[in-house]
Amino acid sequence: MENIAILGSTGSIGRNSLEIIDKLGHMFRVVALAAGRNTRILETQIEKFRPKIVSLERKEDAEGLRQKYEHESVRITFSQEGAEEVARFEENDIIISAITGINGLRPTLAAVDSGKKIALANKESMVVAGSLIQNMAHESGAQIIPVDSEHSGVFQCLAKERMENVKKVILTASGGPFFWKSRREMENITLEEALQHPRWKMGKKVTVDSSTLMNKGLELIEARWLFSLEPRQLGILIHPQSIVHSLVEMCDGSVLAQLSPTDMKIPIQYALTYPSRENSLLPSLDLSQVKTLDFFEADVDKFSLIKAARLALEEGGSFPIALNAANEVAVSAFLERRIKFINISEVVMEIVERHQKREVLSLEEIFDADRDTRLMTQNLLKERY
Ligand code: MG
Repeated sequence: MENIAILGSTGSIGRNSLEIIDKLGHMFRVVALAAGRNTRILETQIEKFRPKIVSLERKEDAEGLRQKYEHESVRITFSQEGAEEVARFEENDIIISAITGINGLRPTLAAVDSGKKIALANKESMVVAGSLIQNMAHESGAQIIPVDSEHSGVFQCLAKERMENVKKVILTASGGPFFWKSRREMENITLEEALQHPRWKMGKKVTVDSSTLMNKGLELIEARWLFSLEPRQLGILIHPQSIVHSLVEMCDGSVLAQLSPTDMKIPIQYALTYPSRENSLLPSLDLSQVKTLDFFEADVDKFSLIKAARLALEEGGSFPIALNAANEVAVSAFLERRIKFINISEVVMEIVERHQKREVLSLEEIFDADRDTRLMTQNLLKERY
């Protein structure tokens, strides 16, 4: 039996993970959970899975839980340090890293530093600190298995391949809810429309990122570090059915692809059971029902964040940090109804174009670049909207 910690246990990936762990009962035991502010869901998780340590974002929530569970043998802690303590908990065998945004970076690094197996769903960590994470994993012996569906697909295609034989890796994107809209129609997109993803059920931030296609841009940078690829080896295809998750072109002309039903439980389960496989609880993929698999090029003029991400991917250095920070700030402003949907890409594009590249070798330099870009983006929002 393997012990599991989940960073971000009350989010979409966290809850899906617990469902799988529950169904695969004999294989895993939940020992540690880190959540944000959703104490209600965390309480049900504590009662069902009986972890030994849990962490929440705020002190007052932790104190409330301590009173409630004072007779139980669960340690209750809080803040970033609390999440890091959950990540480093000595009994962990596998850590699922599923906190959204750069908030997941420190706990992810703590998990990587512990040398355990990491099921990585927090793509922003790889975007802002890919090189640092890979170096740390190399030293600690940590094994990073992607949870992101496209990257899980690439990982599975590459399982028995040599990296020097890989010519190109293509990540597919559903295109989100607005792929067919004209630029004019995109002017009036509401928050509710942006949160209705046609294929995937996900958290709010990644759903908005999927509507702007920024999600795919972040995933290109994530793939660069996960698989040690050059920017020119990475591409995107729009595939509205979301059945083919990625394609890997080999030097001899063969193209390997990974297909599966559109459900995050499949890549989560694979990351947990890797290198073995367990029976799926979902119905089989029936291609005779799907019938058609379409592929289109992404319209980078309409979805300009793909361009911004490409630029950040190719420039490297602090560019991906600026891209991510500007996007996190702009998406928050959109979720709070302070800006319109189309403003997200305008703001991010402008910040990336204005960005002055710096070298970022340490965690402090990463957080400095992140903080400076957030400030710059906040100021831009204040001036303009
Ligand atoms: Mg994905």
